[in-house]
Amino acid sequence: MPLKILEYVRPKTLEEAYELLQKDGAEILGGTTYARLSNRTIKLAIDLQDVGISDIYEEDDYIVVGAMARLANMQFHDLIMEYANGYLYDAISYVWSVQLRNIATVGGTIVPKWGFSDFITAVLALPSEVEFYKAGRMKLEEFLENPTPKKDIMTKLLIKKESRKATFKFMRNSVYDFSIVNVAVSAKDENGKLTDWRVAVGARPGVAALSRKAMEILNDGYDESHIEEATEAMQEELNFADDFRWSGEYRREVAGALMRNAISEVIG
Ligand SMILES: Cc1cc2nc3c(=O)[nH]c(=O)nc-3n(C[C@H](O)[C@H](O)[C@H](O)COP(=O)(O)OP(=O)(O)OC[C@H]3O[C@@H](n4cnc5c(N)ncnc54)[C@H](O)[C@@H]3O)c2cc1C
Repeated sequence: MPLKILEYVRPKTLEEAYELLQKDGAEILGGTTYARLSNRTIKLAIDLQDVGISDIYEEDDYIVVGAMARLANMQFHDLIMEYANGYLYDAISYVWSVQLRNIATVGGTIVPKWGFSDFITAVLALPSEVEFYKAGRMKLEEFLENPTPKKDIMTKLLIKKESRKATFKFMRNSVYDFSIVNVAVSAKDENGKLTDWRVAVGARPGVAALSRKAMEILNDGYDESHIEEATEAMQEELNFADDFRWSGEYRREVAGALMRNAISEVIG
């Protein structure tokens, strides 16, 4: 049995969509790529295509990506292609297939906080924020570490515009598989000096998290001994667990290797 929708609505404003969402059994539709895999019944399906949150543009110090932007629109947007030497263009290209990326939305990818997400790990390694209609704006890490705002609508992803060097690494059994572990590292490039390091690790198999200890160590220095210390700190700080595919111990080892590699690439 496929996903069943009892009533479908396409509101024209965010206010109207938010009011409809408060009704019993109401749910937001993103691209429905994941939602349609279930055989649930949605009483009231709210399609956000007409509420004006699909655009990608610049605003003050941020690149703003509307929650209804498709992953492919984001991937090929000039602002994204130019940012950090095409880092996000490259990272998004690993999200399954062209067909999926043409349909899946940024909101539908961030809000569920899936552990397997490559996209979330890649964005978390950048200073970024998410905005919800009622709950307002928060750092992406705050959103990931706290309960998801209930019956609310994600409207935007905001990525701080600054000169950054960044890289995304993952381990998979094959290209069309979910990552068994993934790591993203970035640092602010201040005339060749690398500051404000960010290290995100996902698919542990939990949702991506920052290793704040590793970031602190790298902010002190990024020579061989600091890199080794930071890697060990990440392996100790973050939780790695078993699932039906790999053990937590193996994930921890692989994450360490990916992180060393990623830091070396960022340093160049
Ligand atoms: C076969 C397959 C392979 C995949 N492979 C990868 C991969 O390799 N790497 C990777 O990173 N990801 C992968 N994904 C995940 C994918 O990138 C999308 O994140 C996912 O499919 C959902 O996107 P969607 O826009 O279709 O969301 P939907 O399925 O429409 O919605 C998902 C959830 O988000 C909620 N939602 C959607 N938009 C909003 C909003 N604006 N505000 C509040 N709630 C909202 C919905 O109510 C729903 O609960 C894969 C998914 C599939 C189906």
